[in-house]
Amino acid sequence: MKGYAMLKIGEAGWIEKERPACGPMDAICTPLAVAICTSDVHTLWEGAIGERHNMILGHECCAEVVEVGSLVKDFKPGDRVLVPAITPDWNSLEAQAGYAMHSNGMLAGWKFSNFKDGVFSEYFHVNDADGNLALLPDGVDPVDACIMSDMVPTGFHGAELADVQFGDSVLVVGIGPVGLMSVAGASLRGAGRIMAVGTRPVCVEAAKAYGATDIISYKDGAIDEQVLALTNGKGVDKVIIAGGDNDTFGTAVKCLKPGGKIGSVNYLGSGDNVAIPRVEWGVGMGHKEIIGGLMPGGRLRMEKLVSLVTSGKLDLHREVTHVFDGWDHIEEALLLMKNKAADLIKPVVSIKK
Ligand code: NAP
Ligand code: ZN
Repeated sequence: MKGYAMLKIGEAGWIEKERPACGPMDAICTPLAVAICTSDVHTLWEGAIGERHNMILGHECCAEVVEVGSLVKDFKPGDRVLVPAITPDWNSLEAQAGYAMHSNGMLAGWKFSNFKDGVFSEYFHVNDADGNLALLPDGVDPVDACIMSDMVPTGFHGAELADVQFGDSVLVVGIGPVGLMSVAGASLRGAGRIMAVGTRPVCVEAAKAYGATDIISYKDGAIDEQVLALTNGKGVDKVIIAGGDNDTFGTAVKCLKPGGKIGSVNYLGSGDNVAIPRVEWGVGMGHKEIIGGLMPGGRLRMEKLVSLVTSGKLDLHREVTHVFDGWDHIEEALLLMKNKAADLIKPVVSIKK
């Protein structure tokens, strides 16, 4: 089979590989559509997960099942499926403890294009098919369904980690495709005022459509000063971090009321430490919680989250700004994501109608 692979840090191309074998609980799938993620950019060009040779890239797709193992009960060849980016080992102790994303090691639920070949390939392997796949509901376009792999479960996890409650004032730092889903998630959880930080006009418009009430540009001065000015010096109840860098944690602490919570889904690519401002953290006694997490994967979450789409409460299509037709365009789509064009939210490559 053919796959689009990371040859080494900074270099990618098409390679030939053996089609993966299907274990008794597994499935082999073929993509209907694939999406490019900022994480692919971090992996390929920034060496975020270290050196990888001839590893097929990609972890966001919608697919068709072509083979299932003898113990798989709920899926069969021909089924169209949602595929979460995180595919935990559901019988691990970490999963039993409630942290399936860290099954068998920290962050190890992230297998595609990390510990094994990813989905930019004619065929790919899914472990624990009954626990990780979900049927694609009728009426959901496979192109839009790619947004279900990572953007929805990750962005919404930001809202979960920040523990957004009815009427909360929420600051969402970053309104790329992940942060936009944090805005949507916060809104669906009942947030009142939602302040969103970003500058790309297409993202700003989408943020307003998903529920942002105020837009803040990090280019117009310190974010915390702008938030405090907008809130009469009081700050917000919750902060979701889906963009920025290590310093964003300090900013978030400064924006937060005592008792507030910060939920981060941002990837921190450099630096050894994250600095927390001592005074604004209540000299250690401000009850300001900080938690960062990899999104939970798995079938139940996919089924629940996609019900928001089928019931008309969540519009996936607004996230998809660029659709390409066929594998030949994968490199173009990847470069588009690397360069973050002004009109870009998310590029998707449609493979099979
Ligand atoms: P993205 O498209 O690059 O969006 C980043 C956002 O942050 C943009 O809105 C950008 O504003 C804003 N930003 C940039 N610099 C900033 C600064 N200094 N202060 C505040 N905001 C700033 O990224 P994405 O695809 O949405 O992904 C967001 C993050 O989530 C990435 O780090 C990605 O690796 C991570 N991620 C995590 C998980 C997980 O499971 N935890 C899964 C997938 C992705 P502009 O409008 O100016 O561009
Ligand atoms: Zn992703």
